[in-house]
Amino acid sequence: MLRVWVRALGWTKGSGLSESLCIQRHLRHIVILCSACLVACSPAPDTPAAGQFASGSPELEQLERTGTAAPAAAAEKAKALYENAPQGSFSALDILSVQGALLAEARDDAALADVVTRLENWPNPQLTETARATVSFLRARQLWAANNLREAELMMDGIDKQQLSNAPPPLRMRFLRALGRLKDGSGRIEDAISLQLQALALAEQSGQRWLQALCRGELAQAYLHAQQPDRALSMVDEATRLAEQDRDAITLLRVYTQRGIVYAQLEKPEESLRSAEAAIRYAREANSPRDLALSLANLADNYLRKADFAHALTLSEEALPLARQAKDRTGELVALTNIGLAKISLGQIAEGKRFVEQAMVMDKQGGGVSSVGDTLNELGIYLERAGDAAGAIEAYHAYRQISDEDLQQEDRKAILEAQERFDSERRAKEIELLNRDNGIAAEQLRRGNLQMRLWALLAGCFVVSGILLALLYQRVRKTNAALATSNEQLKIQSEIDPLTGLANRRHFQLAIKRLADDGKLRGTVFLIDIDHFKRINDRFGHAAGDAVLVDVSHRLREAVRADDLVVRWGGEEFLIVVESRSAETVQALAQRLLDMIGKPPVSYAGQAITVTASIGFASFPIAPHDLAVNWERAINLVDTVMYMAKAHGRNRAYGIDQLDVQDESALDELAQGMDAAWREGRVGLRALQGPQTEALT
Ligand code: GH3
Ligand code: MG
Ligand code: MG
Repeated sequence: MLRVWVRALGWTKGSGLSESLCIQRHLRHIVILCSACLVACSPAPDTPAAGQFASGSPELEQLERTGTAAPAAAAEKAKALYENAPQGSFSALDILSVQGALLAEARDDAALADVVTRLENWPNPQLTETARATVSFLRARQLWAANNLREAELMMDGIDKQQLSNAPPPLRMRFLRALGRLKDGSGRIEDAISLQLQALALAEQSGQRWLQALCRGELAQAYLHAQQPDRALSMVDEATRLAEQDRDAITLLRVYTQRGIVYAQLEKPEESLRSAEAAIRYAREANSPRDLALSLANLADNYLRKADFAHALTLSEEALPLARQAKDRTGELVALTNIGLAKISLGQIAEGKRFVEQAMVMDKQGGGVSSVGDTLNELGIYLERAGDAAGAIEAYHAYRQISDEDLQQEDRKAILEAQERFDSERRAKEIELLNRDNGIAAEQLRRGNLQMRLWALLAGCFVVSGILLALLYQRVRKTNAALATSNEQLKIQSEIDPLTGLANRRHFQLAIKRLADDGKLRGTVFLIDIDHFKRINDRFGHAAGDAVLVDVSHRLREAVRADDLVVRWGGEEFLIVVESRSAETVQALAQRLLDMIGKPPVSYAGQAITVTASIGFASFPIAPHDLAVNWERAINLVDTVMYMAKAHGRNRAYGIDQLDVQDESALDELAQGMDAAWREGRVGLRALQGPQTEALT
């Protein structure tokens, strides 16, 4: 596990805002907007205009730049500066925002509460809104320091955007950087990049090299997460150049930490190691125990990657007490995880697991859902390498559940909601049109009826009126038919994955009702998960990843019959349901799937990308006792064997031949310890190997 310097920068996945919160916020925006206009009309005497960057005194800049090494002492110095600043002035407010941030770092809640009270009762009405925004910023810093990233992000989100763009540049810079890092942490990468680009523009205006270096380093992280490796590299290289010119130890240590992470992620281990070592040198030079703790823990990560586990263990054990002493939860968390991973690799599996679990509990408490997921994935990889296949499967399975519940569900929910909105709007329009048409038809009918009556009365021509009626009736039927067709089209659209053109989960959930008898599935399910897909994205870029997904989906469609159900189950996961339950057919199909995915490599922009997948499969009801299970359980079971395929080397398929269970609760119990049950002979598994390919390392 590798982390950026920033206190408590976790990789959480934030939750959406509740509707009432959004409404409240919207109302508050209106109020703030009005007052912001008033403020803009009559700026306070020492308030820098929104367009120009007037940094505070050199002393304040120095505190902001280096104060994190010893935040409590730096906060004291800021307090002295505040006492000499004109009361209610912008400079006083500027100082308080720096002092407050330092107090948050020092975890001095009592002193921070004092600063907040001052800001809440700001004597200069022209700066009331700015003071209020600063309160939100400081509260967010406080939550952040306690590793409560989700709440911190919500708090920062509460600052009105208009107010933000009117705030004096030094404050705006602090807000933008903090929010940018939080958005990056919660996976809202586009927002993060946009905020950080604004911060960089301000930093460039300010002429302060250290700020430019830090902003570029932060942007590099966001580009990395956005799978734009070239941009990440050029940003971090430029950040390093600027920091080297600046020669400030704290800036250097932060930038080298960021550099180490970028290079590690881009699989350039030597440069990553050099950067991590440089970060440690500068942390020692800056005399900052908390930075030293995190730098040591990050260097340990480099040694984990180099498989020098003894060295990794020593470094993380050195980092742990330093992080605890500095009350730095991120440092503690990284140190605990790396101690655990090193121990696992040194054969102390149970003890190692305990360390990693302790870190995950801490991370969860801070809302770090997706970072817990990442740790579980990492844990799975280490357990797998250490030969604890059962433990690895359990970790992968938990990881998948987290990414399913959190990442995918959120996105999918948004997509489904959008689709449903689209559906109902279109339907409403169609119905309105139909009603209008019906209205016209009814009117014509009414007139026709009158005429007919007249005719009948006058000429007794019943034949003509009959024809007229039939024509009108036909017209209404045609309109109805057209509406039904367009609704059908809309329904199909909302059940198709836009990237691959395959059915999506929504479709599956509807279609499964046909395949499942009383909710019990009949047929064979294959779950296909592309191996190391993240690496494909990292190495070739997100667009290449998309192309791989499209190509694989074509191959899957080709491998099966037209009436078999092929679903894009998640990001790089596919589900196939076929009716056949013949062991021979099913096994041949699993082999075909492996072979077709693995060969030939996917070609994209002149490059050949090797792709392999791990597959789990099983036929239902389950042999030998013909145990019928509902489809959720069926998929869960197939998921477990798919993770066995991962844990036993990837590029292979594991299928369930038979399970010695008679009821669903026994099945659940067995699924928990599938690997062990397999060894004990309670499970009959079939393992198929994928084709020989050049492994994607
Ligand atoms: P494993 O072998 O253990 O399955 O590793 P993995 O890297 O394949 O699995 P993991 O679940 O760790 O990562 C899946 C990645 O797929 C993460 C996500 O960024 C990426 N992804 C999800 N949806 C899409 C998509 O639509 N396009 C692209 N390009 N990437 C996607
Ligand atoms: Mg997956
Ligand atoms: Mg995968």
